[in-house]
Amino acid sequence: MRSRLGERYGSLVPQDGMIPAHLLGNMWAQEWGNIYPLVAPATATGPGYNVTELLKQKGVEPVEMVRIGERFFTSMGFAPLPATFWERSLITKPRDREVVCHASAWSIDNRDDIRIKMCTEQTGEDLVTVHHELGHSFYQRAYNQQPILFQGGANDGFHEAIGDAVALAITPEYLKTIGLLDAVPSTAADTMLLLREALDKIAFLPFGLLVDQWRWKVFSGEVAPANYNAAWWELRNRYQGVSAPVTRSEAEFDPGAKYHVPANTPYTRYFLARVLQFQFYRALCREAGHAGPLNRCSFYGSKPAGAKLQAMLELGASQPWPQVLQAAIGESHMDANALMEYFAPLKAWLDRQNAGRTAGW
Ligand SMILES: [Zn+2]
Repeated sequence: MRSRLGERYGSLVPQDGMIPAHLLGNMWAQEWGNIYPLVAPATATGPGYNVTELLKQKGVEPVEMVRIGERFFTSMGFAPLPATFWERSLITKPRDREVVCHASAWSIDNRDDIRIKMCTEQTGEDLVTVHHELGHSFYQRAYNQQPILFQGGANDGFHEAIGDAVALAITPEYLKTIGLLDAVPSTAADTMLLLREALDKIAFLPFGLLVDQWRWKVFSGEVAPANYNAAWWELRNRYQGVSAPVTRSEAEFDPGAKYHVPANTPYTRYFLARVLQFQFYRALCREAGHAGPLNRCSFYGSKPAGAKLQAMLELGASQPWPQVLQAAIGESHMDANALMEYFAPLKAWLDRQNAGRTAGW
């Protein structure tokens, strides 16, 4: 990334230092997928499609995007969402009032009154977010028979990972199946498909780790109010390798720009979810009998994969998470093996690209 951005922006991107955070296509520089077109090599075979464009071409409106997400779950054997979900959810931004647009999913009565709230736009990014939120919804409904104290994810990361694992199955083949894509790109396109995915999933890991590191330092008193902003950028520098675009001071409070900080929402869950979702995804792929590269697997329509997922979701928080993980996917630890397997073809390509370049900052 640093090398490609250096080719474009010159000395603004020092080749042995940090990348200015405003060049990465996201307000927090937390996911970098938006600048895929800037950094993809012109010579490589690309994915050949862009989900945002497909949605626009086919006129898929936000409510239909949520229907697409629901159908993924029902194809696996889950019951459809209740009528109240469609009546009471907020799916598009209202024109007559201010709302909190940050997407979220709610169980109102701890039974069947499940709803989502998001200002859905016709983009590929929001199609993924729809699946993410529905992962929460189907999880909430699946564990609604548990005692109230056990109505929750096996751990925080589980709850965030379910919909993401399903969204990983939005493969070219799947997009063709549902009529969004006309022709499936050849496997020659896989490296670039994976690059686009990694710009979001891999680039996020250091950010996912640092938000609570900052928060815990604040709570413990290790970081005093006089150093809130400096401590934030220290972590951003160290873990993400991104630098502030302009000089910052304690007159600014940049962590406050991240919703989860003022909203007091724990953040390590998203880091864990980025690891877990690949473990869930691989297990569901195996259950669906997938053969071939992991990144081309979709378990759309697989009842066995659905049954496996349902069994895990129903447990809620009734057992310690390592037991839930063991029962569900036969693994007792959260680890990055599945993630590494998923991105292995990209890793080999990147190693060749980076030969002779300096790593680190
Ligand atoms: Zn979530």
